[in-house]
Amino acid sequence: MHDVIVIGGGPIGSYTAGRLAEKGHKVLVLEKKQRSGESVCCTGIVGLECVNRFNIDDSLILRKVNGASLFPPSGNELFIRRPEPQACILDRVAFDMSLAEKARSAGAEYSFDSRATDVAVAKDSVTVTFSNLGKQQEIKAKTLVIATGFSPPFLRRIGLGAFDDYCVGAQVEIETKDAENVEVYFGEPAPGFFAWVVPTQSPMARIGLLMRKTPGIYLKKWLKELESRGRIAPHQVEMSYGAIPLKPLPQTYGERLIVIGDAAGQVKPTSGGGIYYGLLSADIAADTLHSALTDGDLSAKRLARYERGWKKKLGRELTVGYWARKIFEKLSEKQIDRIFEIVKSGNIDEAMLKAPELSFDWHSKTIIRLVRHQMVARTMKIIKLPFKTGGVDRQVS
Ligand SMILES: Cc1cc2nc3c(=O)[nH]c(=O)nc-3n(C[C@H](O)[C@H](O)[C@H](O)COP(=O)(O)OP(=O)(O)OC[C@H]3O[C@@H](n4cnc5c(N)ncnc54)[C@H](O)[C@@H]3O)c2cc1C
Repeated sequence: MHDVIVIGGGPIGSYTAGRLAEKGHKVLVLEKKQRSGESVCCTGIVGLECVNRFNIDDSLILRKVNGASLFPPSGNELFIRRPEPQACILDRVAFDMSLAEKARSAGAEYSFDSRATDVAVAKDSVTVTFSNLGKQQEIKAKTLVIATGFSPPFLRRIGLGAFDDYCVGAQVEIETKDAENVEVYFGEPAPGFFAWVVPTQSPMARIGLLMRKTPGIYLKKWLKELESRGRIAPHQVEMSYGAIPLKPLPQTYGERLIVIGDAAGQVKPTSGGGIYYGLLSADIAADTLHSALTDGDLSAKRLARYERGWKKKLGRELTVGYWARKIFEKLSEKQIDRIFEIVKSGNIDEAMLKAPELSFDWHSKTIIRLVRHQMVARTMKIIKLPFKTGGVDRQVS
């Protein structure tokens, strides 16, 4: 019997599989695709903190970026930049493949073309039902890691609750003129959310957007506009689509199982970035499972340590980020323009750039600083913050 079955060989599942295999556990990864990294929809931006913390190899990085151009609906650009790189754009396919390769080298087995369809937890084991090349099979393990990404039907079967908020994205990778910096657009291309142009290897860029629904329609419209402005050539490229949870799953552990990554909703609600938070949580998951396997106690009570651990690290970010996302979604184009004007005229952008807490990965302190600025708060119609400010209580200007 395997010690651990990981369902889902995306980056978070593979990383966890590798960590557990390195510790000597017998690990099997079930992946429904035919290979790692197949048809991934992701822009692949991670902060430098993530690159350093997880030793992401230079060969997996397409570009390093020092800042970004932010465009409100008025088009009045705000360019924020630090002298040193802040983030990296990953080759997501190669990144997924490298994590799977690392897990395999540590001893994890992979079964591709294997879609898990059901899970049954018994007193001394878990049984996973999966279909492989059209044939239904069952396999047992001591414990289960669910790393299936955003997959509501499968998660509903596990009985740990459902996502009650999410957004959807669409993206293309296409030849683009004059794309040197990361560009983020608020307002028209993606009302309520945002759109991006992210240069990868010249002259290519990832162009996409997030929305509540029908992102493909909005992206098609925006691509036409970019084409009419001569930024992209007439094209025939396929869009890729993906959904992103904006709130965590109500519970991320159970008897003999834990849920990680996008499946657990460990994603920044502000930007939709899930790689770093997923990897950080995967470390906590691997440590919790290793000690639980060693002690022979895989009860829900014991595995609850995992949820306490990741919530301690990310809980506040997710709460503040989600609150900010909901407020942002209700802003009119006029309000967004006004906030950009206040930030520019009050030199708030410069003050924030100097502030050590401005970070690609940790947004709560910056959000709180920004909304505690009286004019910004007035524009956003914020009367009271629904959480403690944790000492970030000075105005920005
Ligand atoms: C448009 C878009 C842009 C994004 N850009 C960024 C970005 O710039 N930076 C960032 O950090 N994040 C970004 N993300 C989010 C990022 O892609 C995810 O956070 C990340 O992929 C999560 O990894 P994961 O391993 O948890 O899930 P996934 O990558 O979704 O992997 C899950 C795996 O499980 C497999 N699977 C699912 N169900 C089953 C089953 N029943 N049986 C077997 N296998 C199964 C799937 O095939 C898949 O391989 C973006 C997402 C979208 C949609």
